[in-house]
Amino acid sequence: MRRHRLTVVLSQAQGKHPGKRALEESVVAALIMEPGLDVSVIPFLYDLGPDHTGRMFLESVKGDMVVLSWLFPRAAFWILDRDGIRGKHGESLIKPAADDDDDTPETPEASKGIGSVNVPDRHIYCLDLRERNNHEPYVEEIRRIAAESKARAEAKTQAAAASKPQVVDLGMAFLKPTNGHANGQAAPAATELKFSQEELLKTPGRRWYPVIDYSRCTNCMECIDFCLFGVYGLDGESRLLVENQDNCKKGCPACSRVCPEQAIMFPDYKTPAIAGAPVGAVGSLKIDLTRLFGGDTKDAVSQAVAERDRELVADGRDAVGTTVGLAKRQSDKAETPKDDLDNLMDALDAEF
Ligand code: SF4
Ligand code: SF4
Repeated sequence: MRRHRLTVVLSQAQGKHPGKRALEESVVAALIMEPGLDVSVIPFLYDLGPDHTGRMFLESVKGDMVVLSWLFPRAAFWILDRDGIRGKHGESLIKPAADDDDDTPETPEASKGIGSVNVPDRHIYCLDLRERNNHEPYVEEIRRIAAESKARAEAKTQAAAASKPQVVDLGMAFLKPTNGHANGQAAPAATELKFSQEELLKTPGRRWYPVIDYSRCTNCMECIDFCLFGVYGLDGESRLLVENQDNCKKGCPACSRVCPEQAIMFPDYKTPAIAGAPVGAVGSLKIDLTRLFGGDTKDAVSQAVAERDRELVADGRDAVGTTVGLAKRQSDKAETPKDDLDNLMDALDAEF
């Protein structure tokens, strides 16, 4: 029987930051000494286009996978999903360092989004390399995940064996071809395809596009109405789709501010709430990180409108202000009396 192996992929940071490179190298050096792991290195995940070898490699992995990157795990998971590299969400025990002292029990929101489609029966774990500054916690966590993955695979094998119809042995040996292999041995796993390390590591150009968290997206279509650059569309099942991702205006995160579910992420943006930080895990304080980290006091919708107008004008078009693509709920928002959370944020703004 083939021995269980876990694929671990490290996605490098953009640029050549020496501190980040040093951590990447020490994580990889430690992981390749671990039994049962297939370790590979690819460039920055968000930048990989469909023709990049790193992307093809990721597509070839069929079993459980761990992806280490300099991205929020939510962003990394949904970038992969966007690229058709899907799986069930694997829960990591590495939490943001700031949460370690927080003994408030986390109560993740029940998912109300439309979810992904065609999700295979395997798990993808995304770990954020910004969480710890040495390799040990990552190696320890990957050991734990490898054991979890192996236990799941064994349980599956046992369940499959238990449900197999009994065969009466008539004393004749037949070698049944499996996956086209006449000797009855399993076909090579997809991860055995060869990718040269040089090709894998080819630096891709930088990209900028929205990434949708379908565990949150309710298909309300506010982003389609708001974006005037043809980025969004619908798939064959009338689900929201980032259709022309490279039409998106570099550096502009406007539509993420109007999404009522915080389902739109720009993983490369400086504000954590927009880049894919956890949402709503601890009470409501994490909900409006935009104002805590964004350094501005404008409400999100006015800011989105200003950003969209700036891009329209840069394209030689007319600014439209609030006259186009704002749902009634959004345009009313500015006049809504401030609630307790707004007042709390105002107080925090004043302190910073
Ligand atoms: S605005 Fe947000 S919730 Fe609505 S369709 Fe777009 S991504 Fe989904
Ligand atoms: S950031 Fe701007 S251009 Fe890009 S998808 Fe959103 S609204 Fe469209």
